[in-house]
Amino acid sequence: MNLKSIIRPRNGAADRPSSTVGPEVVTAGQRLARRPWPATPIRSGIDVSFEFFPPASPSAADQFTECVGQLVPLAPRFMSVTYGAGGTTQDRTIEVIDELGASTGVPIAGHLTCVGATRETVDRVIDRYAAAGVNHIVALRGDLAKDKAQDAQGETYADAAALVKGIRSKFPDRSFEISVAAYPETHPMAASPEADIESLKRKIDAGATRAITQYFFDNNHFLRFLERVRKAGISVPIVPGIMPVTNFTKVANFSQRCGTSIPSWMPDLFEGLDEMPEVGNLVAATVAAEQCRELVEHGVREFHFYTMNRPELSLATCHILGVRPSFARSATSQAVAS
Ligand SMILES: Cc1cc2nc3c(=O)[nH]c(=O)nc-3n(C[C@H](O)[C@H](O)[C@H](O)COP(=O)(O)OP(=O)(O)OC[C@H]3O[C@@H](n4cnc5c(N)ncnc54)[C@H](O)[C@@H]3O)c2cc1C
Repeated sequence: MNLKSIIRPRNGAADRPSSTVGPEVVTAGQRLARRPWPATPIRSGIDVSFEFFPPASPSAADQFTECVGQLVPLAPRFMSVTYGAGGTTQDRTIEVIDELGASTGVPIAGHLTCVGATRETVDRVIDRYAAAGVNHIVALRGDLAKDKAQDAQGETYADAAALVKGIRSKFPDRSFEISVAAYPETHPMAASPEADIESLKRKIDAGATRAITQYFFDNNHFLRFLERVRKAGISVPIVPGIMPVTNFTKVANFSQRCGTSIPSWMPDLFEGLDEMPEVGNLVAATVAAEQCRELVEHGVREFHFYTMNRPELSLATCHILGVRPSFARSATSQAVAS
């Protein structure tokens, strides 16, 4: 190969389109300008939060502790712990919230579902969260466990909007935050996209202070959804939920159930990577970072990461976004200064 043919002079001539070649010639400068985002870290103004699920075994507990330990230094706005609507993880959620609140110094949000439980049971959990110092609840309807044909007997919260109203009546001060779920690609059981947005509005009108979205891979879904949400008169922050892909096959299967579409480029990009997790992680971090960078370009300044109790991909994505542990930033600047 003739290197001269591919190494271009650095005096600027390479950036000038040649008039002797056809219009298809793209210079290096033009190619860089076409990148979806400039390759410089964003330095400020990005808030992040991390979602975990309660560990189910001693080894999972170690992984959980390791994950939390690596993400806490990023000073997230809050960390949240999921709550199994089926009932399996509810006690563990409360235990984990007690521990995290006491040990991390980061605000903790407790997820809470109301389906399949009486109002009294749900209210008891709200009180336990409050006793643990929680002042942020992610209020959800949840899904009935497969083996439960019907909701609990007695007085219940009918849906997430009713739950929000119940929580707000206990904590009227809006410094007690209530987040709710939102669905850029429409909840699979919603009658229509419009009905889904009306349902979101009911939750906000009942006292929710923000919404976190179901994860999505095509930013157009989020951006169009945001437009429709604002048109509907909803003004609270709508925070995109970001799912870094640890295992593409599992994510694709789960996406089918929760109504997240898989863009046509994804299976091709992740082909073979479930068997090469290290390479897969590099690719997944790039994808998540590109997704976030594009959203930043559209004015998004807050992200909620579904960590799946694995820190690497969220850490890498945050690093690219310029969200770093404060000690790392000062060590780097000292090294550069000396
Ligand atoms: C950020 C986030 C966090 C989550 N955390 C958890 C968690 O910790 N634990 C957990 O179990 N699940 C969790 N989920 C999943 C959530 O519980 C389900 O998506 C559930 O199906 C809907 O809950 P919701 O609060 O959005 O319900 P709602 O706001 O009450 O409903 C959402 C939409 O679905 C429609 N809908 C729901 N159910 C029906 C029905 N039976 N018939 C007709 N329409 C219906 C509503 O009309 C509305 O349009 C989470 C989801 C998100 C996005």
